[in-house]
Amino acid sequence: MATGVSLLEACSGPEEQYLVQPARRKPGSPLPGESTWVPGMCQQCSAGCGIQVRIVDGNARKIEGNPNHPVNLGGVCALGQSALQELYNPDRILAPQRRVGDKGTGTFADTTWEDGLNAAVTAIARTSPDHIAIIGADRSGLTGALWRRFSEALGAPAPAFVEAPELEVERRAAQIVLGVTDIPYFDVSHSDYVLSIGSAFLDRWRSPVHYTRALAEMRRGRPGRRGRFVQAEARMSLTAANADEWLAVRPGAEGILARTLAGILLSSGKIEKENAARYRNLFPEDPPGLEEGAALCAVAAEKIERIATELAAAEN
Ligand code: SF4
Repeated sequence: MATGVSLLEACSGPEEQYLVQPARRKPGSPLPGESTWVPGMCQQCSAGCGIQVRIVDGNARKIEGNPNHPVNLGGVCALGQSALQELYNPDRILAPQRRVGDKGTGTFADTTWEDGLNAAVTAIARTSPDHIAIIGADRSGLTGALWRRFSEALGAPAPAFVEAPELEVERRAAQIVLGVTDIPYFDVSHSDYVLSIGSAFLDRWRSPVHYTRALAEMRRGRPGRRGRFVQAEARMSLTAANADEWLAVRPGAEGILARTLAGILLSSGKIEKENAARYRNLFPEDPPGLEEGAALCAVAAEKIERIATELAAAEN
C-alpha cells in the first residue's frame, strides 16, 4: 500500500489526514476520487429518458441527462435528478426478502439472491403451469417481451401487466381512435397547432422532458413558422402556464369541450368524410351545440368557435 499524508493546521494543533490508495489498480479503472460517467435509463416514470450517472469511488453522486439519447437529448427533469434520493433512502430494501411470519403480518427477513432464486425455481417447478400467474410492470419494451417469452416457455397464461391506470386509458383510446394498442406518440415539434384537453404534458404524463423540448422546437425550431399551443384545463398547471392560451374549463367538462369543438368542425365541412364517419361511429349522439357546450364547460362560445376555426386552418 502507498500512503499519502497531508498535515493541516487547526485550532487544537496539527491534524493528520491519511489518504490511502491502492498500490495497484486495474488498467483503465478510475483513480480514487476520480469521476466516471455511466450511461443508464431513468425509471422514475415511463418516459425512459437516457441519463448518465456520475460515479466517484464506486458511489453514484449525480444524475444528468444523456445528450445522445433520442428521448431527452440531455434534459432531465427534477424527478429524474432526485432518483439518487431513492438510491440512498435509509428505508430502501437492500436485499431480497423472505417472509418469516404469518401471511399479512408483514414480517420479512433478508435473504440472498441465490436462496431467493432457488426458492422461486422450486416453487415454479412444483406448480402446474396453468396455476402460475406472472405479473409484470412494463408491458412494452424488452422487459415486457421477456415476461411474455418466460410465460410461453413455462406454458403459463399470458402475463398480466400492472401499469399506471392512465396508460390503460390511453391504450384503449388509441385502440378506438387509431386501431393500435400501443401508446401513441404525438409529434408536437412538427405541429402548427396543439390543442391539449386536460393533458398536462409538461408537468407529468408521458415524458415531460421530451415534450418540453418538442414544444420549444415547435415554437422556435422552424424559422418563420411558429406553432401555437392551447391548453384546456381546469387549473393553471405548469403546462397551462406555458401555453399561448389557457382555457379554464369547468372540472369534469373537458369531454364536453372536445365534443363541442368536434360539432363545430363537423358542421364546417372541413373534416374529411372518412374521419367524420369514424367520429360518428364512435359518438353516434349529436354533439352539444355551441351555446350549450359553452355553458356546460364554462368557456366563452366565441373562444370555442375561434379555436375550432384555428384548428381547422392549421396545416399540421
Ligand atoms: S421525464 Fe423525468 S422522471 Fe421521467 S424518465 Fe425522464 S427524467 Fe425520468
